[in-house]
Amino acid sequence: MQNFKAILDDICETAKNAKEKGTVASYIPELAAVDKNNFGIHLRTLDGLDYGAGNFETPFSIQSISKVLALSKAMALIGESVWKRVDVEPSGHPFNQLALLEIENGIPRNPLINSGAIVIADILLSHLKNPKEDFLNYVRELANDTNINYNTAVANSEKNTGFKNYAAANLLKSFNNLENPVDAVLDFYFHQCSIEMSCSQVSKAFFFLSNKGGDLKKIAQLTESQAKRINAIMLTCGFYDEAGEFAFEVGLPGKSGVGGGIVALLPDHYIITTWSPGLNKKGNSLLGMLALEQFTTKTKLSIF
Ligand code: GLN
Repeated sequence: MQNFKAILDDICETAKNAKEKGTVASYIPELAAVDKNNFGIHLRTLDGLDYGAGNFETPFSIQSISKVLALSKAMALIGESVWKRVDVEPSGHPFNQLALLEIENGIPRNPLINSGAIVIADILLSHLKNPKEDFLNYVRELANDTNINYNTAVANSEKNTGFKNYAAANLLKSFNNLENPVDAVLDFYFHQCSIEMSCSQVSKAFFFLSNKGGDLKKIAQLTESQAKRINAIMLTCGFYDEAGEFAFEVGLPGKSGVGGGIVALLPDHYIITTWSPGLNKKGNSLLGMLALEQFTTKTKLSIF
């Protein structure tokens, strides 16, 4: 049995003392105010044990981490039909890149880049009765925590500055790959990204993607095979044009968000979440990636 608590404390100490902490995302003005000295890490093992260090109970903006939960809800609602509207190939480009979308006739490369996530938001809008309320309840149920909420200031902040997302949504609409009006889809998408959760809440919410998440798969209404596919998409597409680097350094399926969070998992063993708001040039948390690299190196627990 490894001493996970000591390993997390050690990683946290290294991160807190790091001189280079990356740059906090400023294109969503509300996120720019977050202190980049925050660092949290939380581990949940498959036997349900929890370990945390640093600011692991502080809520942060989950941003693109929400794309995985939105995808799983869409797969639960319409199954294989999702793949008629979005592909499962890594894009090798930044999360908000538009060029490929036009070249590929409005079919986004994967559901974890912005254009793909906007298509998924459209699916949820079409199939949920009360989309915002139902999606939030789904996330709360997965995390077994009713204290999870949208941050409407963050959602509105992004609405005012999300020109590239408007461009992507308009392109999708022009290719007939959105059923609902652009404004309605983006309102839902900005809200889903604005959900605030702590590292420990994220680890809990992602437990259904581990092999033994049986009961939670029932809540998520996903089959084993669908959960495996979501993990495959996270491995190949979860870090945009840094997916290769993340597999190379860390070796786990995972997902980042521009709020500085990263969730990753080893399906038979654990879920781990880090939060450090400073990002690297590719928009992924600088210290979060380093921390996860240290974790899989020290524990020798990666998929490879
Ligand atoms: N809401 C952000 C956006 O659409 C999410 C991006 C991210 O976390 N990578 O730009």
